[in-house]
Amino acid sequence: MNEKIWVYPAYSASDELAETLAHEPTLAEMKVVLGGKGAGLATMTSMGLPVPPAFTITTEACVEYMKTGEFPPGMWEQTLEALEETERQTGKRFGDPENPLLVSVRSGARQSMPGMMDTVLNLGLNDETRAALAELTGNEWFSYDAYRRFITMFSDIVMNYDRRYFEEKLEELKEREGVESDTDMSLEGLKELVDEYKEMYRARFGEDFPTDPYKQLEMAIKAVFDSWNGARAIAYRDHEGIPHDWGTAVNIQTMVFGNMGDDSATGVAFSRDPATGAHEYLYGEFLINAQGEDVVAGIRTPQRITLAGSRDWAESQGIPEEERASKYPSLEEALPEMYEQFVDIMDNLETHYRDMQDVEFTIERGKLWMLQTRTGKRTAAAAVKIAVDLVNSGMISKEEAIMRVDPDYVDLLLRPSFDPDVEKKQIAKGLNASPGAASGIAVFEAKRAKALAEEGKSIILVRPETAPDDVPGMLVSKGVLTQKGGATSHAAVVARGNNLPCVAGCEEISVDVARRQFTSGDIVVKEGDVISVDGFTGKVYAGAVPMIETKYEEQTDLITLLSWADEMRTLGVRTNADLPQDARRAVAFGAEGIGLCRTEHMFFDPRARDAVVRMIMAGNDQEKRYAALDEMLPFQEQDFEGVFEAMDGKPVIMRLIDPPMHEFLPSREELIEEVTRLKCTDPDSAELAEKEKMLELVTSHWEVNPMMGLRGCRAGIMYKGLTEMQTRAYFQAACRCAKRGIKVHPEVMIPLVGHVNELKMEREKLEPVAKQVMAEEGIEVEYMFGTMIEVPRAALTAAEIAEYAEFFSFGTNDLTQMTFGYSRDDAEGKFLLKYVEGFDTGEVDVNGEPIKTPILEANPFQTLDQTGVGRLVKICVEEGKAAKPGIEIGICGEHGGDPASIDFCHRVGLDYVSCSPFRVPVARLAAAQAALRHGK
Ligand code: PEP
Ligand code: MG
Repeated sequence: MNEKIWVYPAYSASDELAETLAHEPTLAEMKVVLGGKGAGLATMTSMGLPVPPAFTITTEACVEYMKTGEFPPGMWEQTLEALEETERQTGKRFGDPENPLLVSVRSGARQSMPGMMDTVLNLGLNDETRAALAELTGNEWFSYDAYRRFITMFSDIVMNYDRRYFEEKLEELKEREGVESDTDMSLEGLKELVDEYKEMYRARFGEDFPTDPYKQLEMAIKAVFDSWNGARAIAYRDHEGIPHDWGTAVNIQTMVFGNMGDDSATGVAFSRDPATGAHEYLYGEFLINAQGEDVVAGIRTPQRITLAGSRDWAESQGIPEEERASKYPSLEEALPEMYEQFVDIMDNLETHYRDMQDVEFTIERGKLWMLQTRTGKRTAAAAVKIAVDLVNSGMISKEEAIMRVDPDYVDLLLRPSFDPDVEKKQIAKGLNASPGAASGIAVFEAKRAKALAEEGKSIILVRPETAPDDVPGMLVSKGVLTQKGGATSHAAVVARGNNLPCVAGCEEISVDVARRQFTSGDIVVKEGDVISVDGFTGKVYAGAVPMIETKYEEQTDLITLLSWADEMRTLGVRTNADLPQDARRAVAFGAEGIGLCRTEHMFFDPRARDAVVRMIMAGNDQEKRYAALDEMLPFQEQDFEGVFEAMDGKPVIMRLIDPPMHEFLPSREELIEEVTRLKCTDPDSAELAEKEKMLELVTSHWEVNPMMGLRGCRAGIMYKGLTEMQTRAYFQAACRCAKRGIKVHPEVMIPLVGHVNELKMEREKLEPVAKQVMAEEGIEVEYMFGTMIEVPRAALTAAEIAEYAEFFSFGTNDLTQMTFGYSRDDAEGKFLLKYVEGFDTGEVDVNGEPIKTPILEANPFQTLDQTGVGRLVKICVEEGKAAKPGIEIGICGEHGGDPASIDFCHRVGLDYVSCSPFRVPVARLAAAQAALRHGK
């Protein structure tokens, strides 16, 4: 058996991998073995680009090391062999007192990961090799400068001895010598500094700074491996969903120096602007006579690569052209030949990778070296622009462009967000329930919010939780913060439907409505204090945070990309919209119909709500009941007409009233309080009598478990006349619109069915109403009756249910709630987030950080649980279609806007997904990606 390969030289890695795999390795395959950086080095080397000789220790070696804490057998020997090969290529020798080889050691996982060990430069230096470096370069100052940098980096990165202590000493030296720039320090000063550094190391670790280059190398490799399990790296992987068992590769590369005089330089560059995607010129920075760390450290002002870029930069900084040209010339001006060569290489790299590249380079005494290339990270805007531009220039196909843009980026593009570059004071963190960012004054009651909004104030409504009562207050607010409630609580649903940033389930805060304040730890926020909520992250900040904004109509590249997505997807995309303005917005975003119109949201108008309360209070009094229903009807009809107008010809699913009726009634707790108070203070008052009557009514509707109680079709069945009124309003609106020449496709959806007889009873009651209205109006419109599948029993009895339904729509919010038995209103705040975050195992990783085990991989209210809830969906689709071929099946739970869930919906054979208006563009892209991944 051949020996296991742990180490690949950059010049032969592609060929060796081709041999192992029996085909040319793809970039992804190279990254698995060599990590991103290693793959880049190997590719650039095989393209014949100037790359300092290098080799890579594989990610697999790291995985083995993590198991045992030792290098796997053979790895060190192979490292030494590769080092010898590097010595042959460079004509230098590691640790040689005459012509020493110095190397950089860098981590490189499959995906670049902040929080992991970065780079140790100049490894291999000790007193002897330093002297040799001085001799070879004829520059003793340079050799000491390299040495002090090495000791700093090694101590900091390998030994966790913060570089700040070393930098303090450096600053002291500069102060003593009265110089500002590092390059002006005296040779004597530098020598003393190096001695001082060694002394600091000895004092801290009780041993000398390692002088043996092989020992230095071994320690640095171990530090790279260990950094894979550093707390920040783990947190980053958790956040990005990167598996913890990938491991990192280690890259060892011959040092080249950008700080060998004015014909040397070092820099970083992008082939396109990573912020906007523009590609008029190369975006990047460099410094003459500097080492890589100087560019990022921000000590000197870096110069731009191109003349045009340099001029744009100078203009933005208010620097006159003369000053720019003399003090900050571009690479194009300062080293024109190097620039030409560099531009060629960048073109070459973009053509090879067919994507924007992010590179590091060094110029050593007039010779250009490429140190790294990788696919550049980019903003959402740049991702879309670059994908479209690459298609237009013929470099990639439309399909590739579609696959390259993360659907969540589309969402980001459509929402204003906080400027990531400003400093913020975080005061709490909850659930990122509805994306977007907003600042405003904290207000604790809906009524106050309305009054203050009328005065032109920007408001963040802060509530313990939200009820329908709060909706008018929410709608005038810029953002919502709730102490309780989950991602599918009605607060979150209403917020998302209205593009209101919302942080829900923020249990860190304690809201005191009576005192108009909330506390978070020892911070107190009172009414009128400005706060900012970030619905992307769930973070809450003190004060106003500046925003950056974008508009859909102006996003021409996004519009182009989504038009390609529409050509590829097979899933339809509808929207959950309750009101005409939401419907119009959704159509502008590309919605092909309404998958869910939550009709109860039309009762949020206070006048309509009063009528609902009167309807409930009427009890068995038929006359009063029908009088109240008659009052409710016009509100519904008017909104339905508006919705039909907005959707002109597209299907509209009207979901009959769903929430428990008590949600429309005053709070029971408050009534008990008031009755108790009045009994003491004013026992004979009419007010007490009235409150007692209301309390009696509220109590009679009170349920321990309202979400499992009298709601959905059960309410339709129990409250006489209610759903008949809704159906009448709906068909009146449809007929009247049809008479005005508007195409209509009314579809009536009966919610929360668990037994076929519920559906049968409601349908048999309502269909005659529809027919009667059409007869009255003298016009026939095509219609459908269908049901939501939100109760597990409904999914399991799909064949029976299909008999009375022309369509099914999965209400996966309730279906998830009932399948897991997790309350959608409470679970996230109480335990669910912890289930996802994980519990301490009592064990710690190599860095002493606790290792956690989660119970759930993801929040099932955000991403559909494919194993459990998904199984019910699958059974239901199969049995429903078998019983009624051609039955239309969609999804309208919040999962309809989640890319991973959309992928599932495609695979399981749904006809469409329906989501809030702002998720429509996301769903269009995600649906196209699903079709490309799995075929039509
Ligand atoms: C659902 O349960 O998934 C659904 C869409 O209905 P609602 O959120 O209104 O209960
Ligand atoms: Mg539901």
